Amino acid sequence: MRYDISAFDKMISRAKRIAVFSHLNPDGDAVGSLCACCTYLASRGKDFVPILPNAVPDFLKFLSAGGRPIVVCEEDSQRAKDLAAGADLLICLDVSSPSRTEYLEESIVSSKAAKVLIDHHIQPSREFFDLVYSEPEISSTCELLFWLLMAMPDIGGDVNRLSMSCAEALYTGMMTDTNNFSNSVVPSTFEMAARLIARGVDKIGLQYKVLNSYNMSRLRLLGRLVNDCMHVFPQHGATCMLLSEEDKCRLGFRPGDTEGFVNIPLQVADVRISGIFTEDKEGGYVRVSLRSKRGTDVNTLARRFFNGGGHENAAGGRIYMPLSEVPAYFLSALDQYFG
Ligand code: 5GP
Ligand code: MN
Repeated sequence: MRYDISAFDKMISRAKRIAVFSHLNPDGDAVGSLCACCTYLASRGKDFVPILPNAVPDFLKFLSAGGRPIVVCEEDSQRAKDLAAGADLLICLDVSSPSRTEYLEESIVSSKAAKVLIDHHIQPSREFFDLVYSEPEISSTCELLFWLLMAMPDIGGDVNRLSMSCAEALYTGMMTDTNNFSNSVVPSTFEMAARLIARGVDKIGLQYKVLNSYNMSRLRLLGRLVNDCMHVFPQHGATCMLLSEEDKCRLGFRPGDTEGFVNIPLQVADVRISGIFTEDKEGGYVRVSLRSKRGTDVNTLARRFFNGGGHENAAGGRIYMPLSEVPAYFLSALDQYFG
C-alpha cells in the first residue's frame, strides 16, 4: 500500500504542539490509533496531547499514549478545550466527522490549527480538514495508520523501527475492529498482522488482555439481555436487545461491558441484522449499535432512521424516545427500509 506521506510528515515537523483526538465511547480502534499516533509523535520528540471526549474502558487501559495521560473531556472539560485551542496541529483519528468527538466538536471546528483526518468510515466530512487519509475499504483506522507510519521517512517501511507499544496499540485496534479477524479483513490486514507479529507483538497475550479479561457481571448482563430483553422480528431476520438504565444500575454496568454483544445474535442462521439499544437518561437519548451480515447495509439504515452512520455491516447512532417505544420504532424502520 502506497501513500503520499510528505504533506503529513511536513505538518508534523513544523508543528510546535499537536493535539490528537478520537471519538466518543472510544473502542479499541479509537484508543489504539490514538495511542499509536501519540507513541509515534513521542518517538519524533514532538510535544503532543491525547484528548478523548469520555473515558477509556478498563480493558484498553493498558495501552500507552506515548507515556502521557489521556485528557478526558467529560472529566476536565475546560482543560481539554484549552489544550485543543493551544495546539497548532490537530490529528483526528477514526472520526468520520468532528461531531463524533461530541463536546470537542466546537474546539476542533473553530480552531485555526492545521487539521488532519485519518479514518476508515464511508463519506467522511472532508471539508473540516486540510489533509484527509480516508480508506473505507480497509479493516480499521489502526491499519490505515500502520501503513501511513510505514511510509514515513523515519520508519522507511521497517516495522522494527516502530516501538513495541506503538505496534501493540495498532494490533489491538485492528484486532477489535475486525472482531478478531472475522470481518472487514482484506489482504493488507493479514500483511499488517504478519509484520507486527514478526516485530514481536504477542498475538495470544493481546487476545487474553483485550478479549478474555472481562468480569462475571458482563456475562450475567449478556444472559439478561438475551433471555429477557431481546425482541425478534423473524419477517426481517432481525433482533434488538434493550439495555435500560435500571438494568445498568442493578447489574453494575461499566462502559465497554456490552462490547461485542451486538454481534452475538448474528450467530443465528436466519438473523441478518442485530441491534442493541442502550438507554442514556443523562444524555436524554438511546444509543444505537447495529450489525449485519454481508449483503445487508446498516450504514444507510443508521443514516435514515437512527441519526448516525458507520460502515455497511457495523453502524451506530442515537434516537430520542423512551426505551419502551424502541422495538416498535425499529420494526417500522425495518418495514420501510426493506419495503
Ligand atoms: P458501534 O456500534 O461499535 O458503536 O459503532 C459501529 C460503527 O458505527 C463505528 O464505525 C462507529 O464509528 C459508527 N457509529 C457509531 N455511532 C455513531 C454515530 O452516532 N454517528 C455516526 N455517524 N457513526 C456512528
Ligand atoms: Mn474504527
